Amino acid sequence: MKLEFHGHDERYTVEQSLLNLFPGELPVYEPIAPGDESWAVISCREEEGRLLVTVDLRHHGEAAAAFHAAALSGTDYEREGQRRHAVGSCFFQAYRALTGNTPPWGMLTGVRPDKLVTQALSEGKTLDSARAMLEGEYFVTPERASLALETGAAAYEAAKGLGSRDIAVYIGIPFCPTRCAYCSFVSQSVEKSFALVEPYLDALAAEIEAGGRMVRETGLNVRCLYMGGGTPTTLTAPQLDRVLTAFEAAFGSALDSCEEITVEAGRPDTITAEKLAVLKAHGVHRVSVNPQTMEAHVLEAIGRRHSPGDIDRAMELVAAAGFRHVNMDLIAGLPEDTPEGFRRSLDRCLAFGTDNITVHTLALKKGSRILLEGLAIPGPEAVAEMLDCAGPALRRAGYGPYYLYRQKYMSGSFENTGWTRPGGACLYNIYIMSELCSILSLGAGGSTKMVDPTRRLIRRRFNPKYPKEYAERPGKALENQRDFAAFYEEMGR
Ligand code: SF4
Repeated sequence: MKLEFHGHDERYTVEQSLLNLFPGELPVYEPIAPGDESWAVISCREEEGRLLVTVDLRHHGEAAAAFHAAALSGTDYEREGQRRHAVGSCFFQAYRALTGNTPPWGMLTGVRPDKLVTQALSEGKTLDSARAMLEGEYFVTPERASLALETGAAAYEAAKGLGSRDIAVYIGIPFCPTRCAYCSFVSQSVEKSFALVEPYLDALAAEIEAGGRMVRETGLNVRCLYMGGGTPTTLTAPQLDRVLTAFEAAFGSALDSCEEITVEAGRPDTITAEKLAVLKAHGVHRVSVNPQTMEAHVLEAIGRRHSPGDIDRAMELVAAAGFRHVNMDLIAGLPEDTPEGFRRSLDRCLAFGTDNITVHTLALKKGSRILLEGLAIPGPEAVAEMLDCAGPALRRAGYGPYYLYRQKYMSGSFENTGWTRPGGACLYNIYIMSELCSILSLGAGGSTKMVDPTRRLIRRRFNPKYPKEYAERPGKALENQRDFAAFYEEMGR
């Protein structure tokens, strides 16, 4: 879409709106010519302390225009925010006039729409005023506003329980039995990279040891551990034991206030009673089993090598092991799935009686087989139908939403939502999604986040992406840990 700006340069805001509202359209900065079929002219002028914005839009033979006036006040920084909001709002209103559509999240383009709610609550505002803001200023639909209010309030409550030296730890196991069609992670199929597993675990054990020492010496408290991937249960029982033993030995007294240990047991075909016994012996509180669908033909279409019956058997083993919390993941919008099929999957998951169910929406990621092979996927209306049935069904079964996030390139521009029965929320999910505390990430592809909530400061460090590179370059992970310690020294000063 050709873009023309007059009286401003809000390029980032307009490009984000374009990506959100016209997926597939790229910004083009060339003069608009007679006969062009896809363009927008965005004009701003200031008059007596007000910003007056007009947007003229043309797309596929249809044309529309919008006008928006906003008061400008406060500091330069605040006025900049008001300007960005006014431009985004006017572009959205022109889009709505053109198409008659109101996307579920309105004009919000970010990955964490509930952050606005958490922020409003921490400024002393009420949930009612937060709802008025979401619906009135950002055009969020009432259903999505309710989701954001509940998850934003959960984050606000979780933040109250965190001290300034509380952190979370993530350990990544980037191996899976086979690769799913929608996957773009660095995860390697063990069939192809079996020889990498032991060298990877050697490097990981060394990083865990150094990380534990750094955390103890810096005087930090680990509030939760999340072991994800990949699929951690791709490891054998002795390998899982080795990683968890290394973690306990290295972090020692820093674990005194650790409330939660979660291990993703994502692929049902990797779950055995022996591995679950190892997890139980190490005090793991929560496991996550991720069938994604209970439909046999959909499992096949996404490249899973297990059947719905394997999921039933895995869930029996998990139930027999007696974990305090169990999560199951589903994805709306998988290839070959239908609203009826999704509903059957959800009903079967509900029948297992786990206290957590996470409903994802398919995100089309670069490098995934879905895009590379052009697999057919359900359209946005079908995905909307799946999610519209999921929310009420989960609420009827006693679950409420407690965390959510959006991704780029999501089918229908929806969201991923974690649902829990009372008392079952996973702290790690809230901490990471709402950026409430630092996350020390150990392992290949680890993305460490250093968070200072007081200064609203976030810094990131990344470990080498691939297992081989990670094992061969231990220096990078150690450098990241030094930066982590320095961040807290700086905070303490
Ligand atoms: S289980 Fe997850 S990480 Fe592994 S291949 Fe599938 S989507 Fe990728």
